[in-house]
Amino acid sequence: MPSIRLLHIEKSYSRSAPKAVEDLNLEIEDGDFLCLLGPSGCGKTTTLRMLAGLEDPTAGDIQIGDRMIVSVSGGICVPAEKRGLGLVFQSYALWPHMTVRENVEFGLKLHNMPRDERHAVADEVMSKLAIVQYADRYPNQLSGGQQQRVALARMLALKPDIILLDEPLSNLDAKLRLEMRAELKRIHREFGATIVFVTHDQWEAMTLASKIAVMSAGELQQLGTPDDIYQRPANRFVAEFVGSLPINVIALSGAEKATPLQAWMASVLVELGSPVNVECVGFRPEALKLSHCDAAASSQDLPDRLGTIIDILPTGGNWIIELSVDGEQIFAITGSAPDFASGDTIRLGLQARDLHLFDADGTRIND
Ligand code: ATP
Repeated sequence: MPSIRLLHIEKSYSRSAPKAVEDLNLEIEDGDFLCLLGPSGCGKTTTLRMLAGLEDPTAGDIQIGDRMIVSVSGGICVPAEKRGLGLVFQSYALWPHMTVRENVEFGLKLHNMPRDERHAVADEVMSKLAIVQYADRYPNQLSGGQQQRVALARMLALKPDIILLDEPLSNLDAKLRLEMRAELKRIHREFGATIVFVTHDQWEAMTLASKIAVMSAGELQQLGTPDDIYQRPANRFVAEFVGSLPINVIALSGAEKATPLQAWMASVLVELGSPVNVECVGFRPEALKLSHCDAAASSQDLPDRLGTIIDILPTGGNWIIELSVDGEQIFAITGSAPDFASGDTIRLGLQARDLHLFDADGTRIND
């Protein structure tokens, strides 16, 4: 199966507006489940539509395997229907006058596949997606989630090597979304296709993707495994965008006199022997270790700090802890019920491996 290469891709919708996509270089390997992740308007859908052939880039090349499908300077643009891609968009537009089976077989019929063969392929795909029992129903007799699965089945019946999905789960309720995520992962395993999936939901991306491409304002910020993106964010934007709870970020400059948090971070950096150009330090809420203030700190720990518990917010299985360090707010999270109460003074500890150091441009500077 082919890999996909986007080279210096750019898209401007108008001269007056900023570029929707700017100098995007992205390589998607065979069998990847790649999530394009970023806030609304960052250029995810535009990127997917350019790959699909529904939008023309204003500059750059796109290659699938060894085939050039777009070269703006070379005047090449292979039409959408000749790119061998399967597409499912947020609005999954099933044919309302066709039954589920007819919808699933539609593309195969266009490819002149004989009737019996068509039936066999549709049966196989419908049973994989657990919709075979609805084969004779019309789309308006199905729930949103069932319709979504029909749209996926219609696309999968064509056995595309590359599947493009634009927020295909956004119309589903939370439980169905979860079920469909598991189903998509299974489809990815069973069909072995390369999937490019657009989402603005970082949790969705973390649970589904083998690779995540984080975008912001038309530009690629980082391409990596979910673990890379979470544990080693390439810059401050990625660190702050990814994570179900916001990362704690302490800017080291900005106050006339160092605040208590700044002073703590400065002492941590001295202990670490960190580069002088650290502009801010980030640590995730789960990295903050809380202990009673009379507990002894381990000799390997970085300098610690006392803080006060402001509030404890149970979230069903986890506890978010709002803390104050001399009036400055930070957050911790624990997976077991804390034996602290609001107003308690506690010791806050960090480990070197949990710190993310960024320079003035927001670029990561530690390994
Ligand atoms: P969302 O998550 O909200 O769907 P996105 O990351 O997919 O956003 P795009 O839809 O690719 O972002 O849009 C990128 C930028 O291009 C936005 O500023 C958007 O307003 C602009 N844009 C998108 N489509 C068009 C269009 N057809 N004409 C003009 N501008 C457009």
